[in-house]
This record gives sequence, C-alpha cells and structure tokens, in this order.
Amino acid sequence: MCNCNCLYCLGFNNSNETLSSYDVLKFFVDNNYNVNEIAVADGEITVLPHRDEVLNLITKNKWYATICTNGIIFNQKVFDILKVKGSFLDVSLDSGTTDTYLKVKQVDAFDTVCRNIKKYAQSGCPVILKYILMDGMNDNYNDIDGFLNFVKSVDNSQIVLSMNWHEIDDNKESDISEDRYIMYKYMVDFALLHNIYISFDINGFSQYDIKRMEKICSRVISIG
Ligand code: SF4
Repeated sequence: MCNCNCLYCLGFNNSNETLSSYDVLKFFVDNNYNVNEIAVADGEITVLPHRDEVLNLITKNKWYATICTNGIIFNQKVFDILKVKGSFLDVSLDSGTTDTYLKVKQVDAFDTVCRNIKKYAQSGCPVILKYILMDGMNDNYNDIDGFLNFVKSVDNSQIVLSMNWHEIDDNKESDISEDRYIMYKYMVDFALLHNIYISFDINGFSQYDIKRMEKICSRVISIG
C-alpha cells in the first residue's frame, strides 16, 4: 500500500499481500529470533494499516531501522526511530523540480517531501537520497542540479544512484548509453567536490558498466 505512484514501482503500491509487515515482525519476536536491525520497505510505512503496531514494535525492541519512505507524510514515531544510532532514512526523490516529481511519482508533493526530509534529518540520522534516472523523464541538468543542490542542503545526506527496474532485462546485459554515463559522472563529480558520499546500486549494470562506475566512484554497492 502506498500514497504514491512511482512510474518504476514494482507493485508495492497495489499489493494484495495477506501477511502484513506487523505479522512478519511479530513472528520474529514471538519465536525469539535475534533481531537488531530491520528495513522498513516495499510499501509506504506511514499509510500501512498496521503502521502504529509496526512502529511501536520497532521502538519497544530498540531496533535500529532503515526506513524507506516516500516522505509525503511526516510521522513522529518514524522520527523517534531515526534518532536511534544505526538508523537510516532512505527516500527516492528522482527529481529536482516540482514538475518532474509530479511526472515520476504521479503525486504533487515535491515541496512537502523536501520539507519532510529536512525535518527527519534533524534526528541526526544518515539520509540516503536516491535518483533513478529515466530516459526523457528526469535525465536533464535542470532536475539533476536541483536534486544535487537539495542534497547539499540536507545534513548527513548521501546519494545512491540506481537503475529503473523496468529497464533491466534479466536475459540481456546491456551497457548504459554514453549520455547516461556522462550524467552519472556529473553527479559523482559534484558529490566528490562537496564531500558527499555517493554510491551506485549496481543491480542491472553490465560488467563493463560496473568497471566504469568503479573508475569514477570507487563506491559501488548492491542493494537488495
Ligand atoms: S514510494 Fe515506493 S511503494 Fe510507493 S509507489 Fe513509489 S516505489 Fe512504489
């Protein structure tokens, strides 16, 4: 369930799962699993039906958490979890302007999200801001500059660049275009200049591109 409608969503915004996040977490607690850290993702925690139960369980067990949220709604319990050492905020902004945010996410919330990210950052947690480049959508310097300057203005922020899952062909390894490579390099150069940590989620990258990314970035990672 989600209050957003990102073009690249894999369907978490419209899921018919029979097991809620709360059921899963409660299973771990009831069966004495040794859990310290969890990731809240794949749907929007601030609108999930079991939101308060999930957040209370995390707080009660003093888990630290990576909270993946679209940031449209600010939630005080999320803020309190982010204050726990080891917690992270993770928001995919994918734009640097209100118009492009609307096109990519299909909700008009760019300013609200930017404001909420800054509020969450006051918790002192690291803030991961993601950009998924999409052809003809957000791959222009106006948006990229807007995004980079916003990142620079957020305390403890870092950048993760990743592919649009819908562009990844599991049966074919294709290299990114030269235009896209130049944009990635532009973002990396900005980050290095301003001492902002930047990394690539290499899922979907060809071996050739992983080597190219390593050369410009030396921080390539794989998430999920
Ligand atoms: S915020 Fe996440 S769950 Fe919601 S539509 Fe976007 S990708 Fe899907």
